[in-house]
Amino acid sequence: MSLKPAIFLDRDGTLNEDRGYVWRWADFYWLKGVPEALLKLQKAGFKLVVVTNQAGVAKGLYQEKDVLALQRLIAEDLKKLGVTLDGYYFCPHRSGERPPCACRKPAPGLLLKAASDLGLALNASYLVGDKISDIQAGLAAGVQTILVRTGYGLTAEPEVTPKTKVFDDLPKAADYILLKAPNLDPNPNLDGS
Ligand SMILES: [Mg+2]
Ligand SMILES: [Zn+2]
Repeated sequence: MSLKPAIFLDRDGTLNEDRGYVWRWADFYWLKGVPEALLKLQKAGFKLVVVTNQAGVAKGLYQEKDVLALQRLIAEDLKKLGVTLDGYYFCPHRSGERPPCACRKPAPGLLLKAASDLGLALNASYLVGDKISDIQAGLAAGVQTILVRTGYGLTAEPEVTPKTKVFDDLPKAADYILLKAPNLDPNPNLDGS
């Protein structure tokens, strides 16, 4: 089986507005152009994998079943556009746990689990996120890293090294990825024909 390239996607602040502990569909607002950008990436051959810290579970603000319910609604909404999420991984723990879990970003656990489950080629994959902890998780997993200026991105931007590319938002990051991916189709036909 050949390994597949993937885009690891932070959720809050990268895909949707980070309103703080988003767990209800009513609080989930796609950032502009994101679903369309996901469609382009998927049509170009990338697996789409959400990797999200959900410390609200450990803090008792909501439960794992709420995370899963929102995940289903996000997936259903994307389906209308023809986008299928290939993986959705979350860390329900909080910072400061002793011993610390292996999945809370900046640890690379979510990415490594996905790579093992889905057969992903980490060296051909990207992580897109808005926090330094996203970037650190990506670097630790050995994927290329992109910071977006949505969410907390402007705060994180001074902390990244030149190794990490920075774009205004996920659609801009997707344009860059598609130009860089030599073996994948940079201009996918969006009507599916
Ligand atoms: Mg985020
Ligand atoms: Zn965890």
